[in-house]
Amino acid sequence: MTKTISVDFDSVLADTMVTWTNEYNRLNGTKVSKEDITHWDIGMVLPLTALEISDLFNYIWQNCWMEIPPSELGLSETIEKIHRKGYRISILTKRERPTVAYVAKWLDYHEIYSDDLVFLFDGFPKADYQFDLLIDDAPGNIVDISPPKIGVLFNQPWNKEFDWPLRVNSLSEAERNVL
Ligand SMILES: [Mg+2]
Repeated sequence: MTKTISVDFDSVLADTMVTWTNEYNRLNGTKVSKEDITHWDIGMVLPLTALEISDLFNYIWQNCWMEIPPSELGLSETIEKIHRKGYRISILTKRERPTVAYVAKWLDYHEIYSDDLVFLFDGFPKADYQFDLLIDDAPGNIVDISPPKIGVLFNQPWNKEFDWPLRVNSLSEAERNVL
């Protein structure tokens, strides 16, 4: 039977916070890097409200989406490899509607294959979607996954403190060691 791998979009496929911190620095004359974002709640690190954080996120997706880099070199080939191993590739992303079109543009631009693309607008838990394995950088999306489903945490500076046994640094590492 075909297995489905759900892949988170921001900070797993697209290295969104690189561009987010660049834009933050341009606006504020600061030198913050992605590595400085060591908490899931960015408001713990930078003097921003939740609304300002999400407004900047929406702004960069609408205005600077071509600058947002893939999380690793050869991402398109790695996703193809996973697909050829027999997995359905399902991209599962929680976001606000105004940025939806740019996700599709970004995936086309970087020639990233997927069998489906799911946009989640409400608070429905990702863990309740149908998949065999989820790769995500958000501890909150991984924590409620229970067997036979598998949750793989994608390492990022903001999830280092979270205690989770199965972690990868890249999708190519997941392809080699987990799938
Ligand atoms: Mg993410």
